[in-house]
Amino acid sequence: MKIHNLSAGPGVLPEEVLRQASEAVISFVDSGLSLIEQSHRDRYFEEVMSNARNLVKELFQLDDSYSVLFLQGGASLQFYMVALNLLKSKAAYINTGTWASGAIKEAKKVGTIDIIASSEDKKFSYIPKDYSIPTDADYLHFTSNNTIYGSQFKAYPETSIPLVCDMSSDIFSKRIDASKFSLIYAGAQKNIGPAGTTLVIVKKDLLGKTGRNIPSMLDYQIHIDKDSMYNTPPVFPVYVSMLTLQWLKDNGGLEWIEKVNDLKSQTFYTELDSNPLFEGTVVPEDRSQMNATFLLKNEALTAEFEKMLKDAGISGLKGHRSVGGYRASMYNALPLDSVKVLTSVMREFANKFA
Ligand code: PMP
Repeated sequence: MKIHNLSAGPGVLPEEVLRQASEAVISFVDSGLSLIEQSHRDRYFEEVMSNARNLVKELFQLDDSYSVLFLQGGASLQFYMVALNLLKSKAAYINTGTWASGAIKEAKKVGTIDIIASSEDKKFSYIPKDYSIPTDADYLHFTSNNTIYGSQFKAYPETSIPLVCDMSSDIFSKRIDASKFSLIYAGAQKNIGPAGTTLVIVKKDLLGKTGRNIPSMLDYQIHIDKDSMYNTPPVFPVYVSMLTLQWLKDNGGLEWIEKVNDLKSQTFYTELDSNPLFEGTVVPEDRSQMNATFLLKNEALTAEFEKMLKDAGISGLKGHRSVGGYRASMYNALPLDSVKVLTSVMREFANKFA
């Protein structure tokens, strides 16, 4: 039976990428060796790293004032690393959920943090819109898509100070003007590749201003100087990320995936809004296209609903353990058909029990 992977992450990857990746584990191009048993200093891998970095720039149409890195330590390490590399006097943060709060917590270990807006008052069910951004802050940090609460910025903050974004759960899901950002980071394990590498895109002229003696592994400049190969890079995650980015480009890039993602999220939310047994948890205008969070109104029907999900091959729909409910994660590689299987289960469920 086909399994429909609606997991929030690590998430679904394109089938052809999985096939290519598994072949490379046995034998990689003409080296005769497995991808994961050869030196990262061989030209074979150097080419992979270089292609992956170039694909990022190409998809986001970024010029050479930006550098692209594939690091380790997850998006969670970026919470600290961003502040360590950029925070001089104070930084502004928007708090829209668990991960944004995590970024704030870590940045506070480095310096003064001004939380300029928060949606905590209503359980992070919306994106704050009325706030002013201090012009004397070193940067503004926000989380473009809130993986756990299911909200997403539809318009980005407008500011003259450097804009820093955790795009872990909606990077490359639509067209954006990436040149408005000074730094973007994203754990790979949703729209880019497997867990184990974190993409960082940084505007080079932003660095070297804190006067801080930064440990080498946490210093963006050192990773830039070494072409993202300061130490042994996570070769397999970077290779699979390269394949996924190539898949995205070959299919039509961000313009193509935006249409696909629009269609998937419309399909899901149309069903959610017309189905009497479920309700969404986020205000409609701020609903995420990547992670749709919702509740079953009558919890007594949980076992029946979950049995129907299982019978239809739907996997990974449970909400985050901290908030409960359900969450349909519709990342780039999730086929529209999988969303349709989910919505037809929801409809059939309503036909039986409403
Ligand atoms: N930020 C966001 C928006 C996330 O969704 C996640 C993980 N799901 C993280 C940060 C943390 O990422 P990691 O596990 O790679 O540290």
